[in-house]
Amino acid sequence: DTIGADLAFTIERFGDRDALVDVPSGRRWTYAEFGRAVEEVALGLLAKGVAKGDRVGIWAVNCPEWVMTQYATARIGAIMVNINPAYRVHELGYVLRQAGIGVLVASVEHKASDYRRMVEQVRADCPALRDVVYIDDPTWAGLVRIGEGVPRERLAEREAQLSCHDPVNIQYTSGTTGFAKGATLSHHNILNNGYFVGELLGYTEADRVCLPVPFYHCFGMVMGNLAVTSHGACAVIPAPVFDATAALHAVERERCTSLYGVPTMFIAELDLPDFATYDLSSLRTGIMAGSPCPTEVMKRVMGEMHMSEVAICYGMTETSPVSTQTRRDDDITRRTGTVGRVLPHIEVKIVDPETGETTGRGEPGELCTRGYSVMLGYWDEPQRTAEAVDAERWMHTGDLAVMDEDGYVRIVGRIKDMIIRGGENVYPREIEEFLYTHPKISDVQVIGVPDEKYGEEIMACVILRDPERPLSRDELARFCRGRLAHYKIPRYLRILEAFPMTVSGKVRKVELREQATAGPA
Ligand code: ATP
Ligand code: MG
Repeated sequence: DTIGADLAFTIERFGDRDALVDVPSGRRWTYAEFGRAVEEVALGLLAKGVAKGDRVGIWAVNCPEWVMTQYATARIGAIMVNINPAYRVHELGYVLRQAGIGVLVASVEHKASDYRRMVEQVRADCPALRDVVYIDDPTWAGLVRIGEGVPRERLAEREAQLSCHDPVNIQYTSGTTGFAKGATLSHHNILNNGYFVGELLGYTEADRVCLPVPFYHCFGMVMGNLAVTSHGACAVIPAPVFDATAALHAVERERCTSLYGVPTMFIAELDLPDFATYDLSSLRTGIMAGSPCPTEVMKRVMGEMHMSEVAICYGMTETSPVSTQTRRDDDITRRTGTVGRVLPHIEVKIVDPETGETTGRGEPGELCTRGYSVMLGYWDEPQRTAEAVDAERWMHTGDLAVMDEDGYVRIVGRIKDMIIRGGENVYPREIEEFLYTHPKISDVQVIGVPDEKYGEEIMACVILRDPERPLSRDELARFCRGRLAHYKIPRYLRILEAFPMTVSGKVRKVELREQATAGPA
């Protein structure tokens, strides 16, 4: 099915149920109302001459109009390009040109970001860009108004021309390891993925899903929006960008049953001084994904946040995104130690990166995946596509993983993050897991730094729970001694107030390494 057809089916079944709630503005839409709002935007874009396959950019913080644009572009067969709201002029110009964006929908401003000014700065250098619609601005009302002059039949005619295998989205990767890459995805890719993610969480029209994760990223727009609408559930927007207090407030006020986040978001919520004052008893499930999920954090999420059915998902933008997920009835060791099992209709194998041979169960190698979820390709970059997706359509993820006898997958780390110390392979994840159990440590990242003797040495970058209670390198070493192999004990300790992050909430280890080698801590 196309995304538009699937939404129509949900509206038919659940028209009077809540579809979308925006907590900051207090606005809310039932499915029938949401469907009408989407149609207004779709007609407006038709009036602006958006043809099938045209690229429509969206450069905005989380808001209802973001979601409407997502479904409106899908209905008219346009390709929506998600642009990272943290981008600056230079990066914006790159994406606008690279994807040949004709119409851009953008926030006016948010905090220090003056989106309108940045758009005006690059406009002259982007000849394809002919129209900009700003949200919370008369140009948005103008879009709806010109749509009123378009006969509905034109929309129906357009929809009749669409196939589920048409591209619907260019989603950029997080840029954790370097430049973000634009993955081109079809309706078939992402609608199926959103549907199955929601299915494994047991979503029904009774679920209310709190989404503090950015829509611009697949976590928000596929695992969030598409999982929600394909099951008739309700999406709750707690704030334009992540804010721990706003997230818990939204859960309490809207009686959310599900909450999403990357591990660092859950940590921030759990560590709020007034955490215990929020009523989170409506929560049942949620998703923790995007980067390794520490066991200690998972235990607190399941207990203190009542999310006993919370799932861990593993995937990447290029694979729509989810490849593996834990199941509702998985026990605590599987839910914390693994990223679950492969999703229905997808294949996963672990191969030796050198020989390409499938490794034995329990042996680490590169995770490869194949199925409906693999992207059409990187937009306008056949060379890079060929490097990532082989002739048999296997996507090579760049992640190291182990699969056990029952098919449960454990992510060992990224190939690029592996530390080689004195010839020993050291997986940062394992050390991080252990250090999370230290009472003074709130968050930790382990990286390799160049060393003359060993090639690389291990550094722990730590955020303290309480800055008044300092931690010394000797104290840390004493804590590790006898419990970690000697070559895994961090040689260096660096105390930080925050980690460099991507907007999707991942720690940029590349930048941590650059900082660490640039000068003394
Ligand atoms: P870029 O490709 O631009 O460097 P990125 O890989 O972080 O950035 P995404 O597509 O957002 O961009 O993220 C996919 C990656 O996130 C995976 O390849 C994997 O390394 C990591 N990841 C996702 N989920 C998990 C998880 N549950 N546990 C561990 N790592 C995960
Ligand atoms: Mg990647």
